[in-house]
Amino acid sequence: MRISENKIDEIRNAADIVDVVGGYVQLRKRGKNFIGSCPFHQEKTPSFTVSEDKQIYHCFGCGNGGNVFKFLMEFKNISFVEAVEEVADHLGIKIEREESPNDQQNELEVFYDINVLAARFFSEHLAKSNEAEEAREYLKHRGIKHQTQRSFGIGFAPFGWNHFLDHAKQNKVDLANAKHLGLIDTNERGEYYDKFRARIIFPIFSPNGRVIAFGGRILEKNDNIAKYLNSPESQIYSKRKSLYGLFHSKDEIRKLDRAILVEGYMDLISLFQAGVKNVVASSGTSLTDEQIQLLSRFTKNIFVLFDADSAGQKASLRSIELLLKQDFEVKVIALPKGEDPDSFINKFGKERFDEEVNRAVNFLEYQTAQFEELGLFEDPAEMTKAIRELVRTLALVNDELKRNLLMKTISKKFGLREKLIESELNTALSQNKTRVETQATKQAVRIESAATASQLNLAAKPVNENPNEKELVRLLFSGEEKILGYIFDNVAIESFANMNYMKLAELVHDGWNDGKYSPADLVEKIDSVELKNFVMKLTLTDESISKKWDDLSFTGKIEKDTFEHAVETVRSFQIFQIEEEIKRNNQIMSDSKDERLHIELLQRNRELQDDRKALLGLKSKNEFDW
Ligand SMILES: [Zn+2]
Repeated sequence: MRISENKIDEIRNAADIVDVVGGYVQLRKRGKNFIGSCPFHQEKTPSFTVSEDKQIYHCFGCGNGGNVFKFLMEFKNISFVEAVEEVADHLGIKIEREESPNDQQNELEVFYDINVLAARFFSEHLAKSNEAEEAREYLKHRGIKHQTQRSFGIGFAPFGWNHFLDHAKQNKVDLANAKHLGLIDTNERGEYYDKFRARIIFPIFSPNGRVIAFGGRILEKNDNIAKYLNSPESQIYSKRKSLYGLFHSKDEIRKLDRAILVEGYMDLISLFQAGVKNVVASSGTSLTDEQIQLLSRFTKNIFVLFDADSAGQKASLRSIELLLKQDFEVKVIALPKGEDPDSFINKFGKERFDEEVNRAVNFLEYQTAQFEELGLFEDPAEMTKAIRELVRTLALVNDELKRNLLMKTISKKFGLREKLIESELNTALSQNKTRVETQATKQAVRIESAATASQLNLAAKPVNENPNEKELVRLLFSGEEKILGYIFDNVAIESFANMNYMKLAELVHDGWNDGKYSPADLVEKIDSVELKNFVMKLTLTDESISKKWDDLSFTGKIEKDTFEHAVETVRSFQIFQIEEEIKRNNQIMSDSKDERLHIELLQRNRELQDDRKALLGLKSKNEFDW
């Protein structure tokens, strides 16, 4: 039997872990938590802790812990499904029983079949229905031929609330499954309705050609409606792991041993139609590590195509960093101002496009040219910043020889002294090294027995770690929307020096994006035992860093002061970052006799001091947006 994801969420949200665990273990209240004697190991002093507000349990003696389902699975030695059923029974929630297919493959086939049904429905509408006239005009205007429309399965979702719904009913589709795939949804009254309405539909294929999701684009600009609507994550679709167009382009990518990365569906389709067939699209966001891994099965050479406008540039820069880390050879194609791939290929054709590809520069030259255009190399203070930025990217290249060659090219091309770049590079490299070593040490630590789990001090301080990182992670596991929003707005995940904290922050950020960021959701997603124990300890322990935090949590609801505590922690974090940079600059100055460098760094330090003062002033003003 299969229980839908939504149902599982519903059951877990309705359950009270204290109630369930309390049925088997004698619990008593201590502080904000409940404690009892651990049912999983022998102990004299109780160290088994259950948190009502976080809906998780953890034993500090043996390390056993998780959410309500995990407890029942462990305690009664039953399967996940059985645990869910038991909690549901207890709560009086009904689970609709579905036919049980023999294996998982069959189960997934049901989803693929529904998507194929939907794809056909949409494409037939595009071809035949009267209301699709506007959509056909749009595609014609964009120069997309019929043949291309067919090969990419482009379709149209009609206006109205129940066209696909009715079609699905006629075809005896299990509506819960269609909802899981995001084709339909339910309103407050529990009635189903079409999710994709009045949109051009782009099916998203897996690398071997199965329809795993859909992207829908509105026809006319409307500020009240999102331009793109995409299928949610499902059992057959993970956004992080899919690359749009790969099914169509993988052969050509293999053949040419290089891929061109663009942003949107239309960019990809236009290029493909014009004969540029080694192209993939990240679909609007920056690349993920998983997408890069997928691509690396076909090539390690990539040409990143920036839109000439700057909207996607930040995402593109982040993509480039990730590609470099995975040892990709990265080049940048910079189209003339005002052009995107789609408009360019339609105006100038394939030959001109190929010329642009041949003119592609390496990522550093591109970045340097950008800075030059902005005039950053004329002002000493700006120049320091620019070089630091360049060097940060350069330090990501693993190959030393390549790195040095790149460094020489840059210094020559822009008349920057090699020494200057070199000293910055060494600082950046030693920082990277510290990070890598810290991570390696921690990975080397293996849990010998469950009993040592709680002894592990994962929070051991590596060099340069910001002392506020731990508290930030703690706040990230608070499950409080406002606190998470504030932290993600003000702290870059990359700025965590401790790799484990960074990993945890990323995990919360992903959950945040999916709207699932309660501690009970999150702890289930941590795959390392060490990290899981660490988080449990951090969120449940009584000896917390901030006394204030505990006193507040004790009231059971978030108070103004708790948010202020988050603001305070972010502020301390930022101040520390600034002070570290000042120290680093002082170190560079004492190591170097370069006068110009001294002047630049002194100027930078003055700016940093100003920022620091401004942050310190924030405290007295106490202006919090509540
Ligand atoms: Zn225990």
